[in-house]
Amino acid sequence: MSQDILKQIGRTPLVRLRRVGSHLPCEIWVKCEHLNPGGSIKDRIALAIVDDAEARGMLHPGMTLIEATAGNTGVGLALVAAARDYRLVCVMPEKMSSDKRSALTALGAKVIITPNAPPSSDDNFRNVAQRLSRENGWFLADQFSNPANVRVHEATTAREIIEQTGGRFGAFVAGAGTGGTISGVGRRLKGHHKDTLVVLADPVGSALAHWVETGIPGPDGSYAVEGIGAAEPPANLHRDVIDSVERISDDESFEVTRRLIREEGLLVGGSSGTNVAAAMRVAARGQVNGPIVTILPDGWDRYRSKPWMQALSSSPQG
Ligand code: PMP
Repeated sequence: MSQDILKQIGRTPLVRLRRVGSHLPCEIWVKCEHLNPGGSIKDRIALAIVDDAEARGMLHPGMTLIEATAGNTGVGLALVAAARDYRLVCVMPEKMSSDKRSALTALGAKVIITPNAPPSSDDNFRNVAQRLSRENGWFLADQFSNPANVRVHEATTAREIIEQTGGRFGAFVAGAGTGGTISGVGRRLKGHHKDTLVVLADPVGSALAHWVETGIPGPDGSYAVEGIGAAEPPANLHRDVIDSVERISDDESFEVTRRLIREEGLLVGGSSGTNVAAAMRVAARGQVNGPIVTILPDGWDRYRSKPWMQALSSSPQG
């Protein structure tokens, strides 16, 4: 049967953790977004943003797309660009793994690396992408503000979770890069059960947790986990959907990621560890009514060059 690869985006499995967190009074279920064709949850938004722009007549084959990306949205856009004849330019902060950079280059994207600069700096990756879009007339996908991002999570990710759980869940936990996942899924799950607890998993060093709690961004520091947390809240992060936050350190994120790989056979990246670590804390409080659902945003192949992942290959099971 011949089908467009883009049709394989979404409808990912939801599985129950068997060992990690098994001592806790609440089940944890994980949505395997690393099994999307481009290896991450961002395939969904890449396709949704391009579909939306095409429907509005803003995009025509042969045009150039540009995006500021931690890497995964870039890979998703590269799949869509290949299938639909667009060119792609990705602007990535230098913090992001060389594995993501080489994946993008292999997929034919032009990659521009920026210093890890704050939002106020001209060198910040989002500002560079905006400037290049303006100067060259390239279409900026704009995942941080584009409402097609939140919409596709309401329409697909959340709908799948409702179907796969039979409508039985007590909490939803996710980190926020653009905020699309937590805002879209959180809103629809609350629409289904109004007492669903929606919890932000935020890296220690991100300013988002403090902003959710107080309305003012906290001081920002550095952290190694990729794709989540920010110095300033993006427009697609809807504060009214979030009930509470869990702050997770790099060490805890990477330790839980290694356990997901070794004990569950889930070949996932660092932000999956952040999400599951936060879900375990919510489970430990025992105050939720039903299973906790969280997301495995991407796969381990994006981080093979990172020291925290290499620790796994050099420690055989005793
Ligand atoms: N984890 C990883 C690895 C990501 O790349 C992203 C997206 N930047 C997220 C989590 C967060 O998803 P969202 O943008 O929907 O908040």
